[in-house]
Amino acid sequence: MAGVKPTPTGSDLLTRATAGTGMASERTRLRMIARLREQGITDDVVLAAMASIPRHMFVDDGFVSRAYDDVSLPIGFAQTISQPFSVARSCELARGGRSLDLVLEIGGGCGYQAAVLGKLSREVYTIERIGALAAKARQTLSRIGAKNVKVRNADGQEAASNVVLFDAIVVAAGAAAVPQNLLQLLADGGRMVIPLGSMTEQRLTLVTRTGDTFQQQSFDAVVFVPLKSGQE
Ligand code: SAH
Repeated sequence: MAGVKPTPTGSDLLTRATAGTGMASERTRLRMIARLREQGITDDVVLAAMASIPRHMFVDDGFVSRAYDDVSLPIGFAQTISQPFSVARSCELARGGRSLDLVLEIGGGCGYQAAVLGKLSREVYTIERIGALAAKARQTLSRIGAKNVKVRNADGQEAASNVVLFDAIVVAAGAAAVPQNLLQLLADGGRMVIPLGSMTEQRLTLVTRTGDTFQQQSFDAVVFVPLKSGQE
């Protein structure tokens, strides 16, 4: 109706209150950090990184009010933004207390975890197989000024390089087994984190490279969307 302003809904008000890096989003974000500590995340560098990234800018408008809850949320194309706990633990395991140079993420989705990894390293390459998601992630990362994160639209399982090796590789989608070619992209002393298991439940798994030896350790039970083949 012309001239009549619609009454803002609760979600509209929250969207406005948490837009940019305002106080409201700062407070909810700090509550998320306190909860992550209670859940056993101890790496202060990871917690500080997560405290600085506006997670609400990576979720669709309808989910802004839940952006800092410990849940995965839809981001379109049947994909999700990972639960904060899974992001925090993956980053903590990938970092292993070191400062990182080059990081590779497989499964960029909305770009949130890549933004967090960007705070922990010099440069992040994230690969997303769904082109529309890759484009959206690029846009959000540019809006928040994450200049050291590069998004590529490709099947990350096919990633290959004989030029660069990565200090850390974070796979953000569940797989039945470790993609062998990705292991070859790990630098000596490098760490890969990947959810391994069935479609419905996986364990966050850390693979550490020492020379040509790869050691595997299992951690928390998690649920990730599956790693798929091909590019869309
Ligand atoms: N890192 C995201 C999580 C995204 S969910 C976050 O910060 O929340 C996992 C993503 O992996 C999905 O977007 C899915 O499209 C993508 N994916 C699945 N298989 C892939 C593959 N082989 N290569 C690249 N991306 C893949």
